Amino acid sequence: MLVGTTHPGNIGATARAMKTMGMTDLRLVTPRHFPHDDATARASGADSVLDVATVHETLDDALTGVSRAFGSSARLRSLPWPIRDPRETALAVRDMPDGQKAALVFGREKTGLTNEELERCHALVNIDTNPEFSSLNLAMAVQVLAYETRGALVTPAPKGPEEPEARPATGDEMQYFYEHLERVMLATGFLNPKNPRHLMRRIKRLFNRAYPDHNEVNILRGLLSAMERHLG
Ligand code: SAH
Repeated sequence: MLVGTTHPGNIGATARAMKTMGMTDLRLVTPRHFPHDDATARASGADSVLDVATVHETLDDALTGVSRAFGSSARLRSLPWPIRDPRETALAVRDMPDGQKAALVFGREKTGLTNEELERCHALVNIDTNPEFSSLNLAMAVQVLAYETRGALVTPAPKGPEEPEARPATGDEMQYFYEHLERVMLATGFLNPKNPRHLMRRIKRLFNRAYPDHNEVNILRGLLSAMERHLG
């Protein structure tokens, strides 16, 4: 997923990077220009990826149906979020249950991803670089992560734990859960409406670590609904 890409050439170069690594599902969030001749030119024959690329109004929309998202960032900001290197990220993608989707999310050429966008991701990915010159070209960052992911997928996974009882919760299910939780926290007076951001961020980080499945999120939603009924 590319968020807010300014230069269409980078979209084409991304399509090329993806196709060389056997990836096809390119999602664009509010690209400045797309389709565009520069994108087609830089794709150098990877038009098939551009042809099926989808355009979305928001990152949330692009993440529909995705159960794990990795946000790549050149600068490690103040955001207290788990950080993985490309290899760890690739192994996490490999070890996801069959049929589950992972997203690799890339930011704007000038400003990267916003903190809010990074918070939608389960973990951050940083490509180790010269600390004094840490920003790769967008499509080159895509190439590094796509290459690592391909490498991990051909490495056999260690014997995994038992089959999970239910599929992992999707990103949209988690968003609804957080909204529900925030409502109950406000209604009970637990959350200070003047400063909700900090606590919600900690809560999201906690649940991201737990990788809750669909049934578990339903249990939590049921608990919240029962509390709401009790509050009247
Ligand atoms: N100044 C911007 C750089 C954006 S480069 C910033 O501070 O984030 C465009 C995108 O390429 C980034 O949003 C990120 O997704 C990816 N990228 C570039 N260099 C990277 C690196 N060293 N590690 C991880 N992602 C990187």
